[in-house]
Amino acid sequence: MSDQATRPRLNQLPTANSKVVMAYARVLMRQHRRALAGMLSLYAFAAVMALIPAWVIGEITDFASDHQLSTHKISLYVGILVAASLASAVLTYFARRRSYVLGEIVFAQLREEFLQSVLALPLVEVERAGTGDLLSRTTNDMEALSRTVRFAVPEWLVAILQAILTLGAMLLVSPVASVASLVSLPVLFFSTRYYLRYATPGYRRERISYASMSGSVAETADGARTIDAHRLGLRQARRIEDNVRESFYSEMYTLLLRMVWFPTVEGAFAVAVAATLAWSGWLAIHNVITIGAATTVTLYVVQINDPLDRIVSWLDELQIGQTSLARLVGVSVVTDDRPKTAPEPSDETIILEDVHYAYREGHDVLKGVTLTVRPGERLAIVGPSGAGKSTIGRLLAGIDAPRTGSVRVGDVEISQMPLASLRSHVSLVTQEHHIFIGTVHDNLALARPDASVEQIEHALRSVDALEWVEHLPEGLQTELGTTGYPITPAQAQQLALARLVLSDPHTLVLDEATALLDPRAARHLERSLSAVLEGRTVIAIAHRLHTAHDADRVCVVIDGVVAELGTHDELVALDGEYAALWSSWRNEKPTAS
Ligand code: ADP
Repeated sequence: MSDQATRPRLNQLPTANSKVVMAYARVLMRQHRRALAGMLSLYAFAAVMALIPAWVIGEITDFASDHQLSTHKISLYVGILVAASLASAVLTYFARRRSYVLGEIVFAQLREEFLQSVLALPLVEVERAGTGDLLSRTTNDMEALSRTVRFAVPEWLVAILQAILTLGAMLLVSPVASVASLVSLPVLFFSTRYYLRYATPGYRRERISYASMSGSVAETADGARTIDAHRLGLRQARRIEDNVRESFYSEMYTLLLRMVWFPTVEGAFAVAVAATLAWSGWLAIHNVITIGAATTVTLYVVQINDPLDRIVSWLDELQIGQTSLARLVGVSVVTDDRPKTAPEPSDETIILEDVHYAYREGHDVLKGVTLTVRPGERLAIVGPSGAGKSTIGRLLAGIDAPRTGSVRVGDVEISQMPLASLRSHVSLVTQEHHIFIGTVHDNLALARPDASVEQIEHALRSVDALEWVEHLPEGLQTELGTTGYPITPAQAQQLALARLVLSDPHTLVLDEATALLDPRAARHLERSLSAVLEGRTVIAIAHRLHTAHDADRVCVVIDGVVAELGTHDELVALDGEYAALWSSWRNEKPTAS
């Protein structure tokens, strides 16, 4: 990744470098080269038509100065002028229509490709970068890019085309007279180069500051309760204020650059027109060219100002677009080091072997965990808070790989299994019972896209949900989600369980801290849950000890290592850590059985 992208901040997703962005843009252009060529030819015809009026005026001027003007000639030339203007307008209309359609197609493609790479992001990367950065890329950067793709790129290409054609027409009429318009070129060239040199990093800084700002705001809203509880409000407010200040200064900076550059460009245009008028006038007086030619060339210089102006002013938007594209393409540069295919495990034994894992370098939270869980076994992992229980769950769920050692299903390393195939072996059961916008059927088929209606109904029946689903207004085809038919949290949990039945993993990792075990809801869902657990290996990360009591074996984790392992009775008899935990828990909860 290092040669394709840079990480703007330690905790942000990478930004693609300009070589990668250009290559991406070239591929896009090549994919749509026909539509692009069609659109540009239409614009070229329109531009040629738009060049005719100035030439007609020159001709009429010449006839007038030679006293050869007749009504017949005037009506002929006025006819040509009107026809050319009309033709140019009609051609421009069709060209514009084509360019808008093309813009929408390309933008839709970009959006889809971006979505694909977001969905393919490894979970660890998302956790590391936080949602703010991703959110800002999907909103601010997508919006900036939409303007670029829909307007800036086509307008810019068209302006270049018009400028070249107008320049060609000028040279055709009189190369000598055209020379004067060149006086402003050095000014245009150097001021634009100066502007771009400072604007590129300026816009990048602007974008990054937006991302930090939305990150802070999202974090503050997400953690509102924690912030309240610890009275961090002022600190958060100050942080957001810093972000706002940074955004303000970075915007001021680019604004300042524009304030210098825009007037310079405008001034250069005015000088070009004045110089051409003076020079071609002088040439006409000395009979080097006709007054008509002088008129036409001057009109062309006035006319070329418009595309040149657009070329330079869209550069601004193109810069912003390029920066945004770099940030969007950057997401696809994050490589998922999981292979796309993996061998099927020989059996469903879960094996951890001398596992070390660290969130921060040099601070191992797992310090050599070795553990084997037999197929169909129920294992409870217990231990004091912070011992590393949930971390073991993360490794089993394939969210991250161990630093050293091995976490396997049978003979296949979990971190080397594609997520889709891992999920059919090991699933993490969490409290997240998200209902997606779509029908009941869509929501379940997520777990197994090729599931038949019978399989879906079977899954619903096994969690006791078929009956109420069939009573929904449109049964399986009822729309759910934020805009759809409202269902209760317990029903949402049942759907989540039905999804598990469909993906049919052999092993379930139940992290109690996050699992479906809100006591009231749990009682209600107990039957559904036990139907799902039936016949599977269950690894329960137990933050409450009654789960341990009911398990086949208990694994006690203390400070990142397995301290004790055995049945509940064995460990109580051992009179060690577990016995101590058990008796203190019993004393805390004298009513527990
Ligand atoms: P348990 O589940 O046993 O309470 P965890 O596995 O959640 O323990 O945490 C083990 C250790 O790792 C703790 O010291 C905790 O502070 C640390 N830890 C957990 N998650 C993270 C994280 N995302 N980044 C840094 N440290 C973490």
